[in-house]
Amino acid sequence: MPELPEVETVVRGLSRHIVGQRVKHIHIPAKNSFKGTAKKAEGLSIKKITRRGKGIIIELAKPGVARKSEDGSNSLSLLIHLKMTGQLIYVPASRHAEFSSASKSKILKRVQDDGRLNFGHPTDDFTNTMPSKHTRVIFELTPTRLPAHSLTRSSNFLYFNDQRRFGWVKLTPTKDVPKDKFFAGLGLEPLDKKFTPTFLYDAIKRRPKSNIKAIILDQTLITGLGNIYSNEALFYARILPTRLGKTIKKPEATKLHSAIQKVLRLGIKHSGTSIANYRSAEGALGNMQKYLTVYGRKGLPCHGCKGTVKAIHLNGRSAYFCPSCQK
Ligand SMILES: [Zn+2]
Repeated sequence: MPELPEVETVVRGLSRHIVGQRVKHIHIPAKNSFKGTAKKAEGLSIKKITRRGKGIIIELAKPGVARKSEDGSNSLSLLIHLKMTGQLIYVPASRHAEFSSASKSKILKRVQDDGRLNFGHPTDDFTNTMPSKHTRVIFELTPTRLPAHSLTRSSNFLYFNDQRRFGWVKLTPTKDVPKDKFFAGLGLEPLDKKFTPTFLYDAIKRRPKSNIKAIILDQTLITGLGNIYSNEALFYARILPTRLGKTIKKPEATKLHSAIQKVLRLGIKHSGTSIANYRSAEGALGNMQKYLTVYGRKGLPCHGCKGTVKAIHLNGRSAYFCPSCQK
């Protein structure tokens, strides 16, 4: 599952390409993957794209709404969660018109080569013609600017694909986003000012019998950390993942606080990790896997000492750590 840095990378990549475009129509091949009245989004333009935890928020509003009424009171938001196997694939139609006289296969190839963006869980659908059998929702968008030589007004398409169908898309009034079942349950953003060493220490003390890895993975406390970045943060803080909350001292919590922020910032800087199931914006691979110290490195030499990275099963997932660097 993508974690905070991966979702942030999707948000930044999508923002560069679809903000300002207008929603022409939402096609829904899989009714269960979409909640809300899709028709209400038609004609609205994409104002901004943000992230809360691992969720994506695409804010829509009437084109040209004046600044003073931008309080979100009458705007709608598309909420997207990629879960395990979700993908967002953007296929711009900028070259359709230019190649309208060419053979069909040539058109498809050209479209795929030209500005196609793949986000999320990488599968053959990253190169397949869209829609595929895994396409659950299709956003038909009207381009902001028409390409110089285009003859017809072609649409751009954003495809939401999901093999295992755990992901979802919802359309909801923007003012109701904080009340949404998923978003309402989220804890603090770890890169927000409100997330302080004291907040983390207090949260740990409220869970004395949980291990520290489970505590920092608890999305109701801190949102956005998953298995990769929690393992990395504990290594940077030199704390064993199995340590119980009650044994963590204040200076350790302070160290863990800055370690969490450090690994997340590093992840965002390198456009996320692409080892497990992740490809970044613009179809390029994220680079963060080159900078991982313990995650996925069982049996390999520790980056901090001459020891070896170990892996154990903890809370139903793999915990990676160095037994001599982490106490
Ligand atoms: Zn070590």
